[in-house]
Amino acid sequence: MVQKYQTKRLDCWPKLLELRQQLAEELGTARERGELLVMGGETGLTSLPAGLGRFHFFAGLGPNTARIMGDYELLSRCLYQAEVMGYESWDLCGPLRLHVGAMALGIFEQSPDGKPEKPDFIFTERMCDQQAKGAQLMNDMYNASIPFFVIEAAPEPRVDYMVSQYAEFITWMEKVTGRKYRDDLLIEATKNEWQTGVLWSRICELQKTVPAPLDLRTLFSLTTVIWRSGKYRSETIEFLQMVLDEVKDRVANKIAALATERYRLIYEGATPWFRTPTPILHYPHKYGAVCIGSCEAFTGGHGTWEILEDGTMKVAPTLSELGMKVETRQQALEALAILYLKYSPLKIGHRSVEERIKHRVRLAEDWHVDAVILNNSIGCRGNALGNAETALALKAKGFPVTVDELDIIDPKEFDAERCERRMDDFLEVQGLRPLAS
Ligand code: SF4
Repeated sequence: MVQKYQTKRLDCWPKLLELRQQLAEELGTARERGELLVMGGETGLTSLPAGLGRFHFFAGLGPNTARIMGDYELLSRCLYQAEVMGYESWDLCGPLRLHVGAMALGIFEQSPDGKPEKPDFIFTERMCDQQAKGAQLMNDMYNASIPFFVIEAAPEPRVDYMVSQYAEFITWMEKVTGRKYRDDLLIEATKNEWQTGVLWSRICELQKTVPAPLDLRTLFSLTTVIWRSGKYRSETIEFLQMVLDEVKDRVANKIAALATERYRLIYEGATPWFRTPTPILHYPHKYGAVCIGSCEAFTGGHGTWEILEDGTMKVAPTLSELGMKVETRQQALEALAILYLKYSPLKIGHRSVEERIKHRVRLAEDWHVDAVILNNSIGCRGNALGNAETALALKAKGFPVTVDELDIIDPKEFDAERCERRMDDFLEVQGLRPLAS
């Protein structure tokens, strides 16, 4: 007889949907209010443009991404267009190929209601080379009408190097937008950005609990607010605090993501962005197996963690716990540099594959995981970096590991039957059998 935990949908789910709707509407009407549209490669450092006033942010592929991802025909047309233009290699970043195809077809910057939403500028931090290339290509394809600024991730943890780039970026933003930069807004945003990371980490830390209060798919859904708003807004903090309170309550009352949890998995690496016929992260549920998280979800630009010598991740201290004052532009820029140089496993892991492997192994140990699935994602080499070595390190610690190769962008490459068979074989070799429904 399999133990069954109580389970229920998150009470804050309607708030998540409401916030996403609000963000989409605000983005669509930003021009009417004279507010800026900014595009970026990820969610970090959104405090920097915040000094120009309220802006609307689209991380990644632009305002039309969700529509393209939900429409196989449109998605295939974009990828085909990129191929025709010579961007066809599997080794090339999948989102970048889509990016190029959508721009060439003139649908990149279209909002869901058909209005063009061209960003005022793009900024990105170059961790993976293809992020910087994406910004450059966009500038080229729009005849240099979208200025872009690339912040170079420090090859070593040098606060002064990062601060000088941030300061240069501020001067550049004032020049390209003609707007005056306000330090008080930067200071407030920086405090929020730090706090957003701490709250996200506190939520993820509760995933150590058995049964897990949330599953990985829910975690990814919750991050959409961070992706769409950036980390600098007070609404993001209010929402994450609401989630944290609810997750604490689920832990106290043993409310599980999966009623039949008996096996815990990490699914590491990017998952397909399009709707797959097999719900990859929920497929193991039929065995009583639940994907409880991943380094990607816990740290991917959102979480703020203190890393101990052996790779253990502890929720990072808040600014006030550290006694750090953020009252001037210089202090704000230093705080942002420290946040990402010292407390971001994602960025540390991009600097050093050894560190990345160490974090992943410790995560599997500390979050009481039984086995790990690694996605050697074709089309996202940035996230697949170090997967083979991670598999060896995990196996050396006794974790069963399986590796898949799912593309994150191209539905043509998704073989549902193969994906299910691989998951079935792996879980059955671990002694699991499908549970009676
Ligand atoms: S991390 Fe992956 S999706 Fe992001 S730029 Fe690199 S290859 Fe592309």
